[in-house]
Amino acid sequence: MDRPRAGLPTLTPSGQAPPAGSIIDLHVHSTASDGGLAPEVVVQRALAAGLSAISLTDHDTVAGVPAAVAAGERLGVRVVSGCEFSTSAPWGEMHVLGYFLPTDSAPLEAFLERCRADRMRRARAMVDRLQGMGVALDFDDVLHQARGGAVGRPHVARAIVRGGGALGMSEAFDRYIGRGRPAFVEKVLPSFGEVATLVHSVRGLVSVAHLKDRGTRAFIERLKGQGLDAIETRHPSHDPEVRSRLTDISLRLEVLRTGGSDWHGDPEPGETHGALGSQEVPAEWLERLDRLRAEPPTVAAQ
Ligand code: AMP
Ligand code: FE
Ligand code: FE
Ligand code: ZN
Repeated sequence: MDRPRAGLPTLTPSGQAPPAGSIIDLHVHSTASDGGLAPEVVVQRALAAGLSAISLTDHDTVAGVPAAVAAGERLGVRVVSGCEFSTSAPWGEMHVLGYFLPTDSAPLEAFLERCRADRMRRARAMVDRLQGMGVALDFDDVLHQARGGAVGRPHVARAIVRGGGALGMSEAFDRYIGRGRPAFVEKVLPSFGEVATLVHSVRGLVSVAHLKDRGTRAFIERLKGQGLDAIETRHPSHDPEVRSRLTDISLRLEVLRTGGSDWHGDPEPGETHGALGSQEVPAEWLERLDRLRAEPPTVAAQ
């Protein structure tokens, strides 16, 4: 795998370097998956929030990226192409953020297409279980909520609420589709190593998302051996103690840091994601990712 040696510029689309001390957000969702706002609107909101860069990291898709990049070029907000992958973990599921992903890679698109097809299979299975429990909804209600985006539990939750099965999203998760609840169905989950290898094969980088208390040094060291480039240290679910422990591990293991709000649009009743830009991630963290990406691969990474 060839990587260009020259450092990639960290300029905004207008050719200006982001102002020193500027703030970015590397974990944001749109209607391409379970977010509430269209990709171009997300970028408008990033500008309004004073952000110099965002990464659009929808679940199992890069379909929102071209519209977000185009809006970013118009508005002077850098948009990094990203994706949030779901992978297997000892405790069930672990999320992995891929950055700098091409939107025209056939192997990547084939992989993501399989993930999205499995999301459809699983949403059908959850609807079957919900119907068996007497909840009024059908699969078309879920598809209507997803509007062509990658289907996820939030779409199922909204359909449950619409059908009167719960008062809000959090009740729908707590009663029915949260992990361990009666209508929860697992996705088919690739391993972390499989996702890391795929992302590296298209010259992307991988960061492990919102590990919370699962982020022990021994566990992260194993991930590093399988290609981990960064840890998401700043996330709304990380209290100051988790944040500082993960920061310490990232420094000791010499992996980079990422952070973001996991913003899904304006909150619905019972939702707990952070506000856009709330993690106050310095633009310098993205510059470090740029520099790592520009380095020639080490033997271990090949
Ligand atoms: P999925 O990938 O289909 O399993 O859906 C996971 C997504 O559901 C997460 O990325 C969140 O956006 C959302 N989510 C998970 N738990 C909750 C909850 N308790 N309330 C609202 N949204 C949730
Ligand atoms: Fe989500
Ligand atoms: Fe996540
Ligand atoms: Zn997310």
